Amino acid sequence: MDVKIGVMAAMLAGVGMVTQGKGGGCNGQVSVVTVYVKCGFGDMRVTPKLGEGIASKILAQAGVCIQWKPLWRKADREEHAIVVEITSHTPETLSPGVFAYARAYEGVHIRIFWDRVQRAAGPGLVHALLGHVLAHEITHIVQGIDRHSQEGVMKAHWTTEDIVQMARQPLPFEQKDVMLIHRGLERYCPAGATARNRECAPQQLSAAK
Ligand SMILES: [Zn+2]
Repeated sequence: MDVKIGVMAAMLAGVGMVTQGKGGGCNGQVSVVTVYVKCGFGDMRVTPKLGEGIASKILAQAGVCIQWKPLWRKADREEHAIVVEITSHTPETLSPGVFAYARAYEGVHIRIFWDRVQRAAGPGLVHALLGHVLAHEITHIVQGIDRHSQEGVMKAHWTTEDIVQMARQPLPFEQKDVMLIHRGLERYCPAGATARNRECAPQQLSAAK
């Protein structure tokens, strides 16, 4: 079985929120990225926390610490944070064959199709797969591009063997993935505004390096 992990990229440049070296449980990490997670349906069997923990381990391999927050109301959201929406009952015609997409060039939104993740992995592997889907899509946002690697977390098409491997230990990043993550992070300002954003003055950018 060939599993396609999708990215419907497009739109304008942007990024998620990054602060330097602070955040709950992120002490000592170089970069902290804030990610809000919202379950868009009422299935209480979904436990994104287990997937979040796995995604954290994966991104820690690249020196990135994720600060996970539940999203209850839009007004609670910090500006420039990444927003993940987990939905179910996906119409077959909506991005057929993909588990999720990230708006890599918009820099904020990720949507995960929980029913497809669940169907592909089964109960024993579902959290490992969800963790990898989260890490994959967050990486697209942080890198700011729709690019894939030959192997590992950023592979475009995971096989069944890849998914089984995920349950043993997290898939790795390729060296180029890590380089692009760090390059993406350098474009961020300490306050969380992006370098491409007029609010981010050049001196703030240089201070972030
Ligand atoms: Zn992708």
